[in-house]
Amino acid sequence: MTTVAPSRIIDLSRPRTVTDGHVKIAIDNRTGSPVHVRALDPRTRNGKACDCTCVGCGEPLSAKQGDVQVWHFAHLASTDCPATSETTLHLAAKAVLKTTRTIGLPRYEIGHYHSVMVAPHQHLVSNIRHALPERPAYQFASVAVEQAFTAGVAVLDDHGVWTPHQDYRLVADAVGTTGSGKSCLIEFVVTHRVDQRKEQVLFAVGHPTVEIHLDHLRAHEESPDLVARVQDHLEGLDRRHWIVPPIDLVKRAEIEARLHAQNRAEVERLVEVWKSTQG
Ligand SMILES: [Zn+2]
Repeated sequence: MTTVAPSRIIDLSRPRTVTDGHVKIAIDNRTGSPVHVRALDPRTRNGKACDCTCVGCGEPLSAKQGDVQVWHFAHLASTDCPATSETTLHLAAKAVLKTTRTIGLPRYEIGHYHSVMVAPHQHLVSNIRHALPERPAYQFASVAVEQAFTAGVAVLDDHGVWTPHQDYRLVADAVGTTGSGKSCLIEFVVTHRVDQRKEQVLFAVGHPTVEIHLDHLRAHEESPDLVARVQDHLEGLDRRHWIVPPIDLVKRAEIEARLHAQNRAEVERLVEVWKSTQG
């Protein structure tokens, strides 16, 4: 990680999403947990009586639940709050994670594959793998959202074009820190997955990074139970993968070398067995 003058840094933060600007998720002051505007009873918790604060800026909010308008939370004071340019799903996922500090971490497999062709259409194959097990409902010691990182790296983009060494800035949706002080970056994906350039910058930043897809929850963006659905999904193991693996790269290379040797030896053994059956 390096610090250089902002003018020389290419910013890879997510472009501000075109949303309707309506904030529908807030922190319920009575529970300390995220709440969807549709989960509040408009008879008792309308306007300032909603008793909610903003996920993005921490300011008090006023619930707008009318017959004609889109139900949403409005800031009491005019503000340039980042929450107004976030999708409801991003806002919900960050708010839930900040409160529960819990996500399911997916399995990570180091694979190796070796094969030898002993006759036309006949291959002898060995595929011994090494797996780091998944960890459902893993709780971090702390979680921070919207953390910026900078890293210098030469990158290859999705069109196969190399850009020479350059400093990049990116903002992680969330960063979880373990009890032993290790960081894990978390990216929530609603429509656009992390592209190849950002992936290489994340590698250069060097922390394990998990990408969690939320797109299947879009149909529930207006549901009172959206927060519960998001929490269930985050704590489970579906629709996520490691972008930067949760293992030291030197250690991974050692395991790969060991698997390579094991798979070669296994194929050699299979070849001997095959030969002995050929009379
Ligand atoms: Zn705000």
